[in-house]
Amino acid sequence: MIKSLCVFCGSQHGSDRRFRAAATRLGELAADAGLKVIYGGGQVGLMGAVADATMAGGGEVVGLIPARLLEREVGHRAITELIVARDMFDRKDQMIARADAFVVLPGGLGTLDELLEVVTLRQLGYHGKPIVLVNVAGYWDPLIALVDQVITHGFAAPNVRALYRAVASVDDVLQALAIDTPPSAPLRVAQAE
Ligand code: AMP
Repeated sequence: MIKSLCVFCGSQHGSDRRFRAAATRLGELAADAGLKVIYGGGQVGLMGAVADATMAGGGEVVGLIPARLLEREVGHRAITELIVARDMFDRKDQMIARADAFVVLPGGLGTLDELLEVVTLRQLGYHGKPIVLVNVAGYWDPLIALVDQVITHGFAAPNVRALYRAVASVDDVLQALAIDTPPSAPLRVAQAE
């Protein structure tokens, strides 16, 4: 049963107002559903918006942030628990270990890193937790196309697409988590001669 969601998203707001609205809505939905939010612990950007909305809705938020980023991402003091991680690797490890599922909103290079980390760890069988990509305003379309390119060129099997589920709106996240179907083997393509 899913009790906690790890949310990966931008430390900035991005250029489209729909990004911030989606972050706020996700926080509200998590609070309403009684799902604990685990995130990068910052007060800035979409990260801050998710945390603020979850707290405002009476939910629980656990932030993980390395000491070095406490200032840069403004460690959020008004959340349930702020844990200072050793470094970026420890932060990501702890977020991944503590969460039952991952939700990815629009974000920058850090978000891309986090998304690919959980997708590739699932590909390798290090975890079997659902991953939902929230494709707000088509933001992730190029990434979805890139995965198609990887498959077309024989670097991944077609069923890697089942490692994550893309939804158009945060309102579809909870249902997507509920119907997550893990990819069936094999996840490797047959070797060409
Ligand atoms: P961004 O999407 O770049 O705004 O960053 C979103 C979050 O990802 C922030 O909390 C960053 O600290 C974090 N982040 C940035 N680079 C990395 C990385 N290499 N590994 C893990 N997290 C990162």
